Amino acid sequence: MPFYRLKTGIVHVKGTRLPAPCNARVLMDGQQQPCMAPSAFLCDGPSSANRSGTCDAPLCEAHARQTGPNRHLCPACHLSQSKAALQRSLFTSLV
Ligand SMILES: [Zn+2]
Ligand SMILES: [Zn+2]
Repeated sequence: MPFYRLKTGIVHVKGTRLPAPCNARVLMDGQQQPCMAPSAFLCDGPSSANRSGTCDAPLCEAHARQTGPNRHLCPACHLSQSKAALQRSLFTSLV
């Protein structure tokens, strides 16, 4: 039974088979807080922390960055992927 952050505030939703709350951090009242909106996607970013090999962070529609058909990244994975792409392009331009 997950907690969701809805417009009315934090709500404890009863029931099974509900999507996990969104794992993305948002700035609220000057503090980083979990978004907690009902998730619609899972992050497909690479992660060595999970046995599945993907990050699997639950993401709401607002925080899922679509990178391809049925591929979504959480803000953290999106950042590290764009950093890696930047490093690659720096590297190739040096060579
Ligand atoms: Zn979210
Ligand atoms: Zn991720």
